[in-house]
Amino acid sequence: MDAITGSRIIADRYWRREVRTGPVRFADVIISPALPISVAEGVLLVRLPLPFALDHINVYLLDEGDGWTLVDCGLDTPEAREAWDRVLTHPLLQGRPLHRIVVTHHHPDHVGLAGWLSARFGIPVAMTAGEFAVAGRYADPARDVVAERCPFWHEHGLPATLAPELLERMPRYSRQVHALPARVDGVDTSAPITLGGRHWRPVVGRGHSPEHLSLVDDEGKLVLGGDQVLPKITPNIAVWPGGDSNPLRSYFETLPAFAELSDDALLLPSHRQPLRGIATRVDEIRAHHEDRLNAVIQACGTPVTCYELLPVLFGRPMRHAELGFALGEGVAHLNFLEGEGLVVSSLGEDGRRRFVRM
Ligand SMILES: [Zn+2]
Repeated sequence: MDAITGSRIIADRYWRREVRTGPVRFADVIISPALPISVAEGVLLVRLPLPFALDHINVYLLDEGDGWTLVDCGLDTPEAREAWDRVLTHPLLQGRPLHRIVVTHHHPDHVGLAGWLSARFGIPVAMTAGEFAVAGRYADPARDVVAERCPFWHEHGLPATLAPELLERMPRYSRQVHALPARVDGVDTSAPITLGGRHWRPVVGRGHSPEHLSLVDDEGKLVLGGDQVLPKITPNIAVWPGGDSNPLRSYFETLPAFAELSDDALLLPSHRQPLRGIATRVDEIRAHHEDRLNAVIQACGTPVTCYELLPVLFGRPMRHAELGFALGEGVAHLNFLEGEGLVVSSLGEDGRRRFVRM
């Protein structure tokens, strides 16, 4: 089977490629760290700093009249806490307090300061049950979830000489996430949620995280997208031991809910800038993964480990923590192809799993 055939099978099963008319149109806003801007009536975007290559996250404040609902919180760093001190006194907030916090998913840049803000203002935090479960597992002081990944890295070809460095460099959840409050409210994703004077329809995304919450307002004009659909970058879709073994399939299965949205809706994403043209952006993300899947199929002519495939997937050497994310993402692509019957894997006597084209 050649790669083109593989591409067609994948495309037919998971999406119907449609021809879109317009390009993605980015909202004409200048976004500075810790300076709230109004992006829609009653909606403020706040950019907070991150100490990574991706150097920021956008969080959103929804106007409740006598206060604000916050969607996502930022990573727990001194810089982000300092940014919050400036944001909370900004004139656009009119001196009104935070009322509650809604978190889209468990990743540290989204949930990191939820516990800190909740304790500071005595306000409730809500997230989906699936996300809270993973946050609890990662934050468990009795476990080292990074060390638990070592057998997975070995199986997928990480050279023994690189394992200690990766173990040391992978970020530890509890250093980036303030302790969550003892009580976190669940989000009922089957019913509309009223926030900031609007009724929002919850849209659950999978693949990037287990039960990621996005919110679409009932007029279909505003989308609080979280990380599920992002401009210019694709959300990390990776296998983590103990989690979804086929997250790329889960991601593809939950993308149609975004592809159905009007291209005139304003996507308010967690990174980069707001945009219109969500369905177009979904097509671009699908095409990106399709290209990568085809490249992987091509490279699986002889049995290879995931580690050996990383140059094909990423086009450059991966180091430090990046390598841990890349291995997870590589295995996500390989497991997807194996699930589709396009590659098959076997575990060698050396404990390494190798994949080969069917
Ligand atoms: Zn995320």
